[in-house]
Amino acid sequence: MPDSTLTAVKSDFELAFGRVASGVWSAPGRVNLIGEHTDYNEGFVFPFAINRRTYAAIAERDDHLIRVSSSFSSDVHQTDVFSIQRDDSNGWAAYPFGAAWAIQEMAKSKGINISPRGFDCFIESDVPVGAGLSSSAALECAVALALNELWAVGLSPRELALVGQLGENQIVGAPTGIMDQSASLLGETDKGVFLDCQSLDAQIVDLGFARDGLELLIIDTKVAHRLVDGGYATRRAACELGAQIMGVGSLRGLSVADLPKAKELMDDLTYRRVRHVVSENDRVVETVKVLRESGPRAIGKLLYASHESMRDDFEISVDELDTAVETALRHGAIGARMTGGGFGGAAIALTPIDKISEVSLSVTAEFEALGYTKPDIFVVSAAPGARKES
Ligand code: ADP
Ligand code: MG
Repeated sequence: MPDSTLTAVKSDFELAFGRVASGVWSAPGRVNLIGEHTDYNEGFVFPFAINRRTYAAIAERDDHLIRVSSSFSSDVHQTDVFSIQRDDSNGWAAYPFGAAWAIQEMAKSKGINISPRGFDCFIESDVPVGAGLSSSAALECAVALALNELWAVGLSPRELALVGQLGENQIVGAPTGIMDQSASLLGETDKGVFLDCQSLDAQIVDLGFARDGLELLIIDTKVAHRLVDGGYATRRAACELGAQIMGVGSLRGLSVADLPKAKELMDDLTYRRVRHVVSENDRVVETVKVLRESGPRAIGKLLYASHESMRDDFEISVDELDTAVETALRHGAIGARMTGGGFGGAAIALTPIDKISEVSLSVTAEFEALGYTKPDIFVVSAAPGARKES
C-alpha cells in the first residue's frame, strides 16, 4: 500500500477521535473469476483477492464503547460491545459492528475466553462500493482481523471468514455465502482461492496471468445491484426447491449426469436455475484443471460459457453486462463474463496486455453509443489477503 494511504488513515483517525491509532489492519476486495451463485448451494467458487483494499485504523478504549467512522460518510456510529444487535439505523456501521459481534460468538462457540474492550475505528478504502468487488467483505475482514489480534482471540483466517459471514448474515441482514470473506482473508499475489463451499477446503492456485501477458479488466457498469432485492432471494428459493425435488440436501449433491432426470421432474424455470448451478460447478472445477494443465490462455471459453449460463438459465444479467462482455470479446479479450451477484455490477475480461486499451476504449464507445452510463474500467491483479499494515 502506498505510504500516503497509511498516513491518511492514521491522520483521519486522529482528526475523528482526537488520539493516536494503535494499529492499522487492511483487507482486500475480491473478484470472482468463476463460480457464480454456487456458494450458497455448497458448490465451488474460484475468486481472488484484488489490489484494492479497505484499511481500518483502530485504538482500544478503557470502556465498552465502540465508535466507528469512515471517509465514506461523516457520521460517527456507536454501540456497546456487549449489546450489538441488528438495527437498520446502524447503516454501514452494521458491518464493523457485525464483525465485533460475530467474533465474540465464534469465541464462545469454541470455548475461548476473551474480555473484549471497546474501540475507536476509522475506515478508509479504495474498493469500489456495490460494483461486485465485495467492499463489504473487505470492511468486515479488516475489522475482524484487527479484533482477533486486539482481543487475543487467536482464530485462524478460515475461522475469521466464518466470522465475517456470520456478522453479515445476522447483524447486517445480508444472506451472503462464505466466498467473499475467504478470498479477502486467504488471497495471495498472483493466486486464486479455489474454495469448496461444502467442506470449506481452500486450495491456493497459481493464476499465471502476468507470466502469460494477461490482465484482468473490471468493467463496472455502474448499474446498481442490490442483494436485498427480490432477484437474489427468488434465485435462492429456486435452488432450494430444485434440491428438494431431487431429494438432495443442496444442489452440490447433483452432477451434470443428473440433469436429464431433473428436467423430467421440475418446471422449466426451476430446471434452468438448477442447470446453471450444476453446470457452473463443473466449469469451476474445469477452470482450475485447465489452468494447471494449460495455463490461463486456455480458460477463456469457460468464462464465456459461465456468462451464457447466467444470462440464459439463471437470468441475472442485464443489457449493460451483456454489452460489456460481447464488446470485450470482439476486441481481443480471450474470455469475459459478468461477475458477482448479478442485476448490475461488473463484468470481467481476461485480456492480453496489448489489447487492454482497445478493449477499454471500445467498451466505453459502445456504452456511449447505446446511451448507457459511462462505465468505470480498470485492471486488477491478485493481491495478498488481509494483514496488519502497521
Ligand atoms: P459490495 O458488492 O461492494 O460488497 P454490498 O452492498 O455488499 O456491496 O456492501 C456495500 C456496503 O458496505 C456499503 O453500502 C456500505 O454500507 C459498506 N461499505 C463498504 N465500504 C465501506 C467504507 N469504506 N466505509 C463505510 N462503509 C462501507
Ligand atoms: Mg458485499
